[in-house]
Amino acid sequence: MNPSYQNRFNPDIMKKTTLILSLFFLVCFYSNANEKKQRSGNHRKHHPKNIILMIGDGMGLSQMYAAYTATQDNLRITQCPNIALVKTFSASDYITDSAASGTAIATGFKTTNGIIGMLPDKTPVRSILKYAEDNGLATGLVATAAITHATPASFIASVESRKMHEEIAMQFLDTDIDVFIGGGYNDFARRSDSIHLIDSLISRGYHIAKTIPEMLNVHQGKMAALLYPEHAPKVSEGRGDMLSLATFKAIDLLSLNKKGFFVMVEGSQIDWGGHDNNMDYVVKETIDFDKACGVALDFAIQDGNTLVIIVADHETGGLSLPVREGQWGNPEGKFSTDDHTGIPVPVYTFGPGAEQFHGLIDNTDIFKKIYHLFRFKDNVNLPGK
Ligand SMILES: [Zn+2]
Repeated sequence: MNPSYQNRFNPDIMKKTTLILSLFFLVCFYSNANEKKQRSGNHRKHHPKNIILMIGDGMGLSQMYAAYTATQDNLRITQCPNIALVKTFSASDYITDSAASGTAIATGFKTTNGIIGMLPDKTPVRSILKYAEDNGLATGLVATAAITHATPASFIASVESRKMHEEIAMQFLDTDIDVFIGGGYNDFARRSDSIHLIDSLISRGYHIAKTIPEMLNVHQGKMAALLYPEHAPKVSEGRGDMLSLATFKAIDLLSLNKKGFFVMVEGSQIDWGGHDNNMDYVVKETIDFDKACGVALDFAIQDGNTLVIIVADHETGGLSLPVREGQWGNPEGKFSTDDHTGIPVPVYTFGPGAEQFHGLIDNTDIFKKIYHLFRFKDNVNLPGK
C-alpha cells in the first residue's frame, strides 16, 4: 500500500486533522462574522441620512483661493477633508452653461446648453430632488438668484429653455418640495398669464414668506420664501446674511423629517462677478457663499449623519491671481474672458460618504454618487454607470 495513502486513513491522524480543521473553521466563522459586522457598521456610517449640496455658481479654484487670500486663510470650505476635480463639459459644448451643468448635477444626464431637466432630444429626466421626494425625504432649494434661475430650476423643472421662468415657477407646483428660498416672486405672482401661483401654494399648505424675518418666523411645515421680485441684491449692495440665514432655516425645517433630507443651496452670484470681470464682486460673493457652507458644515459636524458636498457648475471669467505686493487681504485678479471656461472645478466633501469623491470625476457623477449614497432603488430610467 502506498504509505501516504495509508497515512491518510490512520485514525490518530484523522482525529488530529479533524480537530485542526474544526478549529480552523471555527476561527474562519468568527472572523468572517466579525468582518461582516464591521462591514455593515461601516456601511451604515458611510451612508448619510441627509445630503446638503452647495453649488457656488462659477466658483473655480481661483475664485476660492481669491477668497482664501482676501480672508487670510479664514474659509470654511477648506476644512473639507476630501477634494476631487469635476469635468463640466456639456452634451453640446466644451464650455457648459448653468442650465446644462445644473441638469448634469441634478439628473446625471448631460444635455445641450440652455436646456433644463431634459435630454438633448427634449425627453424629460428626473432630478435627484424628485427621487428624494419619492423616497420620503424632505427636500429644499435655496438661491441668491430667482429660484426659477437655471441652477435651482434644474432640480425642479424640465423645460426646453432656461428662459421659461414662468413655466419653471409653474412646475414647482407639480412637486412636493418642502422648502424653497430665493428671489423670483414675480414669476409666481405677477405672471403674463395672470395665474396667481402664490394662492396655489397657500392652498397646498405652504407658509409664504416675503421678508427674511417672516422666513425666520416659520418653525414647521412647508415654506416658500420669495424674498425679492427677481434676483437678490449683491452682498455689496445690502443682501446681508440672507444666504446663511436661508441655509440655516432650510436645514432647520427639513431636519424635522425623521427619514432625512436633501437640499441644494446655490451661491448664484459668484458667476455674475466673473461675467462682469469684477474681482470685488467675485471675492465678496465667494466669502458669502463660504459662510453658508459654514452653516451646512456646522450642522453636519453636530449631526454626524449628514454629507456636505460643495461644488461649482463651472468656472467663470478664466480668473488668475498674478503676484503683486500686498496680495494677502486684498487679492488682485486677472480675467481672461467674460464668459465661462471649460477647466475642471473642485468638489469639496465632508461627512459620511465624503471619501466617495476622489480623482477626476464627471459632473454627472455627482448625481450618481448622491443616488447611491442615499441607497435609492435602481431605476430603469437611470443614466448608465
Ligand atoms: Zn454664467
